[in-house]
Amino acid sequence: MALKSDLSAGYYYVCTALIVLLVISIIYLIHQIMTYINRTKKKDIPNLHKNETYENNDNITPARSIHLIPTVWFHKFWNHVIHIVGVGEMSIGTIIILLIYLTVNIIFLALPFETDEGVPHVTSIRFAYLGIANAAFIFPLATRNSIFTTLMGIPFERMITYHRWVGRTIFWLLTFHASAQIQSNYNSSKSVSNSLWGTDVYKWGFLAYLFLSITVTMANSVFRRFAFEWFYWSHFNFLFFIIFGCLHQKIFFYFTITGIVLYGIDKILRKIFGSFRTVNVTSVEAVSSGVTKIIFRFPTYYEAGQYIFVNFPFLKLPTSLIDWHPFSLSSPPLSSFGSSISSSGGVNTASIDDTVDEGFTSIHVKIQGGYTKTLYAKSQQGSQLTETPLTMRVQGPYGKSSIDFSSYKTVLLVSGGVGITPIISILGDLVDSQIKSNYIVTQAIHFLWVIPDIGSYSWFEKELEKIQQSAATLLPPEKYLLDIQVFLTRSTTTPSSKFFPGRPNIRKIMKLIKQNHGSGDIAVGVCGPAPLIKEVRNAAGSESDVTCLFKTHTETFEL
Ligand SMILES: Cc1cc2nc3c(=O)[nH]c(=O)nc-3n(C[C@H](O)[C@H](O)[C@H](O)COP(=O)(O)OP(=O)(O)OC[C@H]3O[C@@H](n4cnc5c(N)ncnc54)[C@H](O)[C@@H]3O)c2cc1C
Repeated sequence: MALKSDLSAGYYYVCTALIVLLVISIIYLIHQIMTYINRTKKKDIPNLHKNETYENNDNITPARSIHLIPTVWFHKFWNHVIHIVGVGEMSIGTIIILLIYLTVNIIFLALPFETDEGVPHVTSIRFAYLGIANAAFIFPLATRNSIFTTLMGIPFERMITYHRWVGRTIFWLLTFHASAQIQSNYNSSKSVSNSLWGTDVYKWGFLAYLFLSITVTMANSVFRRFAFEWFYWSHFNFLFFIIFGCLHQKIFFYFTITGIVLYGIDKILRKIFGSFRTVNVTSVEAVSSGVTKIIFRFPTYYEAGQYIFVNFPFLKLPTSLIDWHPFSLSSPPLSSFGSSISSSGGVNTASIDDTVDEGFTSIHVKIQGGYTKTLYAKSQQGSQLTETPLTMRVQGPYGKSSIDFSSYKTVLLVSGGVGITPIISILGDLVDSQIKSNYIVTQAIHFLWVIPDIGSYSWFEKELEKIQQSAATLLPPEKYLLDIQVFLTRSTTTPSSKFFPGRPNIRKIMKLIKQNHGSGDIAVGVCGPAPLIKEVRNAAGSESDVTCLFKTHTETFEL
C-alpha cells in the first residue's frame, strides 16, 4: 500500500521503534532464561580468602584480570554521572540514549519518503505525523503493569523517564506543527479567530494542542516537586488531548489506540487486583525523627527493593480517599527479619499484636510534607489508634532491581537517611538466602548507612541487629562476611566497629573492598539523596578496573 510521504515518516518510525523494542525484548528474555538456569544450579561456596575476612591485610592475594581495557573504559564512561543545570543528574549512557532517540526523530523528519500518490511533502504535516507516531508509545510508558516491564524488564519508575522524553518530544513536534498551521491559516484568512477555529479541523487541532500544553506545563519538575497533586490531577487532561486529537484527524486514533488499550487494561487490572486490596494493619509506630513504621499482612509475592502505592482512605477526608503515595517495602520477602515488632523503643506505639511472624511486611514513612506529617500525627495517638485502627489500601508491588545481587560474590549496599528502606530489604533478603539456600553466590556483604545522628538509627535498629545476629549465629564465618557501618554526619562519636563520625569516603571504602575481594565484579546498590547517588556511581566507575567492575543499581524516591 502506498502512503503519503509524511504519513510514511510516522508509519516507518513506529515500525523502526517496534523492531528495536523487539530486539531488546529478545535479548532481555534470553538473559532472564540464562539467569534462571544459573540460579537453579547448586552453588559450592568456597572459604573466603584470609584477606577477604579482613584478618590479614598484609598478605593480599593478587587479583586476576578478567576484563579487557576497552570494556573497563566503556563501563567508566557510560556510567559516569554529571550534573546538568535545570535537569539534574544524568549518566553519560542516559545522555547517549537520549541523543540517539532525538537523532532518530530528526532523521525521520528529514528522510525523503517516496509516494506514488503525488501528494507533496509539507514539513509541518511531517512534524504532526511524527508527533502522533511518538504518541503511540506514550501510554505504555506511563503504565504500571506495563508490557515494557514484562518484555524488557524496565520498571515503571525508570520508564517514567522515557515517558517524559517522549512527552516533551511530542509537545515540541506538535508545537511546530500548530504554529506553522496557525500562521498559514492566518496568512490566508487574516483573522486570528478564523485561523484558530475557523473550521472543525482547526478547532479540534487547537483544542488538542491547548490541553497538551497544559498537561506538559503542569508536568514540569517544579510542580512535580512542590505541588504533586496539581501535577497529578492536571495530567488527566491528556484525555482531552486524545479526544480532540482524534476529532482533528482520524489517523491519530489508529496510531494511539494500542497504547490506550494497554493503559486501559492496566487501570482495570489495578482496580480489580490492586486498588481495593485493603490490608490488615498489625502495628503503627511513631519511631523517632518523624518516621512512622507500619507493619501489615501482605500475602503477595514481592521482590526485595520493590515499592507499593499506599492509601489511607480515612486519614484526612475527603482528599485521603484518592491520595496514593509510593513507599518501599522495608522488610525482605518471605523472611522474619524485617517485621520485627515490639512495643518498646519508639516514641509511641499502637501495636495490636507484638508477635513476630513470617508473612508480615513493613513500610517506614518519613515526614516530607502534609500527608506524611498527618500520618505521623495519627501514629502518635497510641492506644487511641488501637481502638480505631488505620485502614490501609495497597497497590503493587512495583519496581525491579537492575542487578541480580545474589549472583555476585561481593555486594556493597549504600543508603542515605530513609533511603535505607529498599536497601535493608535487599540486605535482609541476601542474608536470608545465604541462611536458607545454596543458590546464592554472595559471600561478602558491606552495608553503609549515612544518617544525621544516632536518633535516626532507631528507625531500623531492631531489624539491623536481628540480621547481624542471625548472620553471626547461623552463617560460618570462614565462608560469609557481613560488615555494617553506620555514618553519623552530625555527630562526633568515637569510631567503633559499627559507628563512625562524618561522611563515608566511598572511594576509599570501595578500594579496600576491591583489594580484599579478589577478582570478579562487585554489585553496588544505592538509595538516598541525589549527591550520595552521584558520588557512589562515580566512585564505582573510578574504582572499576580489569580485575573488577563495580556494577551499580540505584533507587530514587522520585517518579
Ligand atoms: C519509588 C518510591 C519509593 C519511596 N519510598 C519511600 C519510603 O520507603 N519511605 C519514605 O519515607 N518515602 C518514600 N518515598 C517518598 C514518598 O513517596 C514521599 O515522601 C511522599 O509521597 C511525600 O508526600 P507528602 O505529601 O508528605 O509530601 P510532599 O511535600 O507533598 O512531597 C514531597 C515529595 O514527594 C513527592 N510526592 C508527593 N506525593 C507523591 C505521590 N503521590 N507519588 C509520588 N511522589 C510524590 C513530591 O514530588 C515531592 O518531591 C518513595 C518515593 C518513591 C517514588
